[in-house]
Amino acid sequence: MPAKNDLLRRFRGMFWGLVVGDCLGSPIQFSDKDRHVHVTDMLPCLFFHTPPGYWTDDSAMAFCVADSVVRCGKYDLQDIADTFVKWLREGYWSSLPDAFDIGGATMIAIRGIESGSLRNGDEDSQGNGSIMRLAPSYILNYGNPDRTILYEVGDLTHQSKRVRGIISLMADICDEHMQGHPTIVQSMYETRDEVDNSGWAVSTLQAALWAFHTTKTFEDGMITAVNLGGDADSIGAVYGQIAGAYYGFEAIPERWLSAIKDREKISDLIESFLKVAVI
Ligand SMILES: [Mg+2]
Repeated sequence: MPAKNDLLRRFRGMFWGLVVGDCLGSPIQFSDKDRHVHVTDMLPCLFFHTPPGYWTDDSAMAFCVADSVVRCGKYDLQDIADTFVKWLREGYWSSLPDAFDIGGATMIAIRGIESGSLRNGDEDSQGNGSIMRLAPSYILNYGNPDRTILYEVGDLTHQSKRVRGIISLMADICDEHMQGHPTIVQSMYETRDEVDNSGWAVSTLQAALWAFHTTKTFEDGMITAVNLGGDADSIGAVYGQIAGAYYGFEAIPERWLSAIKDREKISDLIESFLKVAVI
């Protein structure tokens, strides 16, 4: 087991990497590859009418998981589900007064949660909506080879064996990175032209892996990842998690962190979460 301080810098890197990737990618999401401005800094999002540094559903749902763990002092799946409902209905932990950038499967799933179901969707629910928010579940479960918690939180919105496989692969990659070794898992993509920038969970993780393996710093990898366009915020969020776990929090450029809305509030949440989640 790595030393606690080393783990903490990697956990912070993973969580903040998610947020940074979401905020950087949001302004160019939905754009075709190379039919968008080249992003190297936080920009306003014309589609959602947000200023620079505003996060979308990726971070909001991750914040909801962390918020639940902090309030309950432990993992409580029903409370996490209820917090997702509060995000959708009341804009809880949204960067705008209302929730936005809500995936289709997630919208339907949250109605399912309101009807009492903690497993929503079906085998076709293979969007990246559960891996984009993996960090708090992964950190909470770290060191436990049983990944039930990761699957349960994923199943709230994307109940699919294929997505469970992707969650497991992403957790394996993060496990290697927590040990300080770059993952031996290679991307199925060899060239940029091959990379699928859609919101399919399989391709989002593979796109993030491709960006990780073709660059040498957190910053270069993030710029490479989000500029794939397409589902750029979630590709950035997934890259930010796997790369943040490897490079650590201090590798994330300060100019990106300082541009994030409510940085102090987010920092308080993440630090409170780490106190509960990391023994
Ligand atoms: Mg999003």
